[in-house]
Amino acid sequence: MAFGFYSLRHVCLTLFFLFISSVTFAEISNVDIASPDFVLENFQMSYFVDISEEMTLEDVQQQTFTPSTNSVSLGSKAKTTWAKIELQNTTKTIITAFLHHPYAYHNKSVVLYEVVDGRLANTRILDMDDPASLTWMLKGVAAYDVHLPPKQHTTLYIKSVSFSHQWFSLDLYGEEQSRRALLGQYTEIALLVGMLLALIIYNLSLFAFSAQKEHLFYALYLISGGFWSALSYGLLADLFEVYGSVTINWHISLGAMPVFLLLFMMEIFETKKKYPIEHKALAITATLITLNFMYGAVDIITSLKHSNMLAAIMMVVSLAVSVSMIIRRHPIAPFFLLGHSLFLIFSVKALLFYSGRADFTYINSHGVGIGILLEGLVLAFIIAYRIRTLEAIKASQEQLKIQATTDSMTQLFNRGYFNQQVRSLINDSKCLEMGSYIAIIDIDFFKNINDSYGHAFGDKAIIETARAIKENSRGSDVVARYGGEEFVIFMPETTQCQAFELAEKIRTSLKATLYTDDHKPLNLTVSIGLCEINDQESDLDICLNNADKALYIAKKQGKDQTKVYSEEM
Ligand code: GH3
Ligand code: MG
Ligand code: MG
Repeated sequence: MAFGFYSLRHVCLTLFFLFISSVTFAEISNVDIASPDFVLENFQMSYFVDISEEMTLEDVQQQTFTPSTNSVSLGSKAKTTWAKIELQNTTKTIITAFLHHPYAYHNKSVVLYEVVDGRLANTRILDMDDPASLTWMLKGVAAYDVHLPPKQHTTLYIKSVSFSHQWFSLDLYGEEQSRRALLGQYTEIALLVGMLLALIIYNLSLFAFSAQKEHLFYALYLISGGFWSALSYGLLADLFEVYGSVTINWHISLGAMPVFLLLFMMEIFETKKKYPIEHKALAITATLITLNFMYGAVDIITSLKHSNMLAAIMMVVSLAVSVSMIIRRHPIAPFFLLGHSLFLIFSVKALLFYSGRADFTYINSHGVGIGILLEGLVLAFIIAYRIRTLEAIKASQEQLKIQATTDSMTQLFNRGYFNQQVRSLINDSKCLEMGSYIAIIDIDFFKNINDSYGHAFGDKAIIETARAIKENSRGSDVVARYGGEEFVIFMPETTQCQAFELAEKIRTSLKATLYTDDHKPLNLTVSIGLCEINDQESDLDICLNNADKALYIAKKQGKDQTKVYSEEM
């Protein structure tokens, strides 16, 4: 009940105020100034669009002005717009008011006419391309001091001439309040651009480390977007005092932005490889925007006019591709759609604002910058996800590489890797010059072991032999399982004495290491053939063959022994 009563009262009050304001609207009330300290950031004024762009103050004074608030956005067909503010100094002393036009950096010119009691008292012209006229231009803001005579009526006419889209706001301050407003003017923009800068650095470093093009495209997207935000929201005007036609061409950055975003989409969704239709749609859109971008170098005003339509095409295409990626269950697509939707929602608000169809609110007038920032933050997740996926791919490739080079039963290298590795060692190092040794190790009576204790026990014997070889060989030796129960060792820069000693260590260490199921020690023995590989005989196959000959002699002379190859064999 209480809520119902509250709602009813609320509705009545709203209707009452609407009625009151509609009455005052029709008359355009005075703005009363009753003290030298004041802040007026929300008051009534009126405006008139001069389509002929040629009217004088006298002409304009005959026209009917449209009541409005002190902020207006009128699109691209209102390049010359006059605002009218009725001021009444209700005190008995002169008051100095400061009129701010905070978006003057955007304009071609701003002219202020002061009419006191029907008589033109002062005219001040600010032409952005004439440095001599920039007396009232402070950090991108046109700030005029206006002296209001006591108990008198002053009408301010502000002629705002824009290059392309007309949107501006007018504020009135006392002297101290004016100073403060000028100081705090670009704090949030600096913050926004700063955050974009952090994302830019993040993406550029990712590109530097990974050479993945997607990071570069995204960084370039953020660079063009960040630059455009700094330009369009007045930070560049504030920092470098650059305005007017000098900066109008820099709006070309707005044309670069979508191209890089489309390229980024092609990369993260790998459309070229996997989705030809989507790829074509993205590529055609990117081409159209690039053409308009290039046209912007010749005629930026026309190019900016086209950009509204191209932005609409870009939005439809990018949205359609994102939805298509979701349907195809691309893992990144939901994140992208979320981030991109944020960008689109705020950009649409901005587009409506610039074309004079949405209110002059902070969010609408800064939509593109806010959209890029929110999207950038969400897309940082995508990048993290991509990094995780790439890491997983790398790890599995690493795993495959290991699988390709090792023997799964013994974890020693396999035959193929041994041959390849030893050949490159022979070519690259002093292995031949200093003399190296090759050993072939073969388990004795292995068929018997298999037959007597089973194949699984035979496997155990192979694994045990591999362990003994690995344990006794040195770090520089290359050890491999060469075949069923046959192993090889390449011992680089080794003398015959050292090679023989190593072979014997392996052979003797194997004794009594394996026990059969009935707990009896198995007499596991191996025979070993050794052969030197050096400058005189450097062919690996011949040396392996010679080592095999030595092994054959060892077997023939009773097994369980090491033989070194000699010419007589
Ligand atoms: P010698 O003393 O002369 O070397 O005689 P041997 O019985 O060891 O003869 P040979 O080298 O010909 O025996 C090889 C046997 O090894 C034949 C094959 O069945 C067996 N074998 C090969 N690979 C494996 C394996 O992975 N596991 C097991 N359990 N047996 C294998
Ligand atoms: Mg054999
Ligand atoms: Mg054997």
